[in-house]
Amino acid sequence: MTLKSDLIVFSDFDGTFTARDIGNRIYTHFSGGRNRPLVEDWKKGLISSRECLTRESELITATADDIKAFLNQFELSAGALETYKELTNHGIPFYILSDGLDFYIEYILRKYHLEQIPYCANRAIFDGNRLRIEFPYQNDSCPRCGSCKGVRIKEIVGAQREAVDVVFIGDGLSDICALPQSDSIFARGDLLTYCRNHHFPAIEYSDFFDILTWFKETGKITD
Ligand SMILES: [Mg+2]
Ligand SMILES: [Zn+2]
Repeated sequence: MTLKSDLIVFSDFDGTFTARDIGNRIYTHFSGGRNRPLVEDWKKGLISSRECLTRESELITATADDIKAFLNQFELSAGALETYKELTNHGIPFYILSDGLDFYIEYILRKYHLEQIPYCANRAIFDGNRLRIEFPYQNDSCPRCGSCKGVRIKEIVGAQREAVDVVFIGDGLSDICALPQSDSIFARGDLLTYCRNHHFPAIEYSDFFDILTWFKETGKITD
């Protein structure tokens, strides 16, 4: 691809672009909490995202409509909409990279009239009240992820890597493959702890207004 901007922004979805971790809430709600041991094993690195999502999906019986009704309660993070609009007004590409599921990302983006945002995620396939996950962005070089953010950043930025400043925004352990591919890292939650323990120079943030302020104060966008 050809980038018009020398900046490119990648954001995680669950708990980052949205205030709460929607994927986790869905599985917890519809499994009655029986997914928790799987999530704990995933956090410890004992099982991959693929195994975790596949086995979590086996625990729930819910139709797509059941889950969509549950989605109404979720909102974007404070400042996410404003930041996205400012960045795109300045010609800065903005992507969502998620190791969650396409159907709720699509639903939430549509709710906020943001369906134009390109995103990568795992694919949810409903068959009645059974849910099955496919991994179109799976990469054999990464044993950890379903949809590996490091691989996706490399693919999207491509040969222009040296000329482009990559900004990544995240909150969790599904984001760690993005870290070596990023020039500026915004982190909160488990990702912030991981960055501190592994010496990645992360900028702590609490919501997207902090990130918008950083873009302005560093002169990366000007009014
Ligand atoms: Mg997240
Ligand atoms: Zn990965």
